[in-house]
Amino acid sequence: MAYVITQNCCNDASCLAACPVGCIHPTPDEPGFATAEMLYIDPDTCIDCGACADWCPVDAIKADSALTANQQPFRQLNADYYHDNPVRPGWRYKTPPAVVTLARGRLRVAIVGAGPAAWYCAKELLAQPDVEVSIFDRLPTPFGLVRHGVAPDHPATKRIVDQFRFDRDQARRLALFLNVEVGTHVTHADLMDHHHAVIYAHGAATDRRLDIAGEDLPGSLPATRLVAWYNGHPDHARLDPDLNGRRAVIIGNGNVALDIARLLTTDPGRLAGTDIADHALNALRHSTIEEVVIVGRRSAADAAFTTPELLALTQLTDVDVVLDTPITAEEANSAVDAAARRKLALLTPLPTAEQDRTPGRKRIVLRFNSTPVEIVGTSTVEGVVLATTETRVDPDGIRRPIVGDHTETLPAGLVIRSIGFKGTPLPDIPFDDATGTVPNQAGRVTESGSQRPLPGVYTAGWIKRGPTGVIGTNRLCAQQTVANLLEDFLADRLVTPRTGGDELARLVRSRQPDTVDSRGWSAIDTAERSAGAATQRPRRKFTDRDALLDAARQRPARRLPLIPARSA
Ligand code: NAP
Repeated sequence: MAYVITQNCCNDASCLAACPVGCIHPTPDEPGFATAEMLYIDPDTCIDCGACADWCPVDAIKADSALTANQQPFRQLNADYYHDNPVRPGWRYKTPPAVVTLARGRLRVAIVGAGPAAWYCAKELLAQPDVEVSIFDRLPTPFGLVRHGVAPDHPATKRIVDQFRFDRDQARRLALFLNVEVGTHVTHADLMDHHHAVIYAHGAATDRRLDIAGEDLPGSLPATRLVAWYNGHPDHARLDPDLNGRRAVIIGNGNVALDIARLLTTDPGRLAGTDIADHALNALRHSTIEEVVIVGRRSAADAAFTTPELLALTQLTDVDVVLDTPITAEEANSAVDAAARRKLALLTPLPTAEQDRTPGRKRIVLRFNSTPVEIVGTSTVEGVVLATTETRVDPDGIRRPIVGDHTETLPAGLVIRSIGFKGTPLPDIPFDDATGTVPNQAGRVTESGSQRPLPGVYTAGWIKRGPTGVIGTNRLCAQQTVANLLEDFLADRLVTPRTGGDELARLVRSRQPDTVDSRGWSAIDTAERSAGAATQRPRRKFTDRDALLDAARQRPARRLPLIPARSA
């Protein structure tokens, strides 16, 4: 018997440190780690101790005897990894950064953003005995994409926030400034006045554009907004997408596209027990969408979704998943790596759209080799023009989409572009418009146009490295940034702040009287959970700022734990 890693794997590598025999790979010091779809246990080396399962933050590791029918394929996926990547057991645990001692004085760090990258940074910093952290976020709630991005039907992934619990001493050294916007209520200079260092971890909140005609017609939406809408983001609660057509088309075939296709087709009754926003659940109950077409511009071998998410899609019991066109024998053999081979093995046997439809069932159609060239409609979206596309390898070895002349108009009432996220600039911080990231070297922000680090300015997460990887990828990313920050502090490369502590709290309150602190967030969390408990849901989210602020004001008489005891 052995343990097996399954679909929710978050790649944060907590399990690696727990494994006494080093049978989990790829490890952070192996080349495949940064792009790994998930981590894998070597069944031949596993000693069945279960230590990794105890450490997994998202409950993705199971004894092979306890695998459900849907999890069975992961036994082979784990074993196959070792067939494709013969590795020896073991991993060199990275030496933790030196302890910042009282002799050096207190280190004060501000973190901008309260998503997972920010919390992983806070966790690394607060593990040091003499560090104070202030977290700022423009929303009245923490956890960024865990709250407003992870699909509601993926509750296990949301358990990642359980890692961000702190003991009494650490909680005393952490201040939460929610509903406070850096650039509006406080400036970068204000933060530097009160802290030795600032870590920018504000993510990649906007969407990329297709730059084609019709993109701004009503009924054409970026995935970022639709995902935020169904997850109850206060800025997008009034989106009201038109779900009255028969077909929706999603451009791009990453994991976000798969999430949206599932949400649009799955029985709303199955979503009723999740934390989906009430307005979205109601709209989905009245939706007339019967078919969602996911359009990839390159070949099936180049699909951006990951194997675990594709596997889960093909296992949906209430939705048909079909191919627009059968995978040719040539395509089936075109995989350039093991991940593509695994995806093609799952895709090739799928039925095609031409085969009989199952009466009464919605369906998801996977279409490849098609590039959108125009979104058409008079007052609203009526369809999307797709051009046949060939994937060719260029002289640099990159598989590029080459758009052909043959086009077809696919009728649709809703077109969602799910072609990736993009970061946005903040005042006074260098920004690279081409990549949508803050220029940096291993987390040290560099001056615009030079490699020179800006003293005391750091970055982590998607705004540091671009919108790739799963939530746990941020853990190693945060460790790198924090290790460099601590190194700079110990080497006296940081400027001592003019002031800090209480004066910072006073300044923020004077600029934003509606600041939500940890007690305010606890009050929101408690209110949402109690509202959810009444209907057997994990929580019912408040979806507008006023309601969130009202809930925050209902502060409990005594201090509640900063972080909820259960997942968000
Ligand atoms: P993504 O994985 O980068 O996929 C973007 C898709 O858009 C690709 O299919 C890409 O095609 C396509 N695309 C880009 N530009 C295009 C254009 N001009 N025209 C047509 N198609 C275009 O992005 P994502 O789905 O937003 O996901 C972001 C990250 O979050 C990923 O790392 C993902 O794995 C992660 N995520 C994970 C989960 C999960 O684990 N459950 C859920 C959601 C998101 P090409 O490949 O040809 O460029």
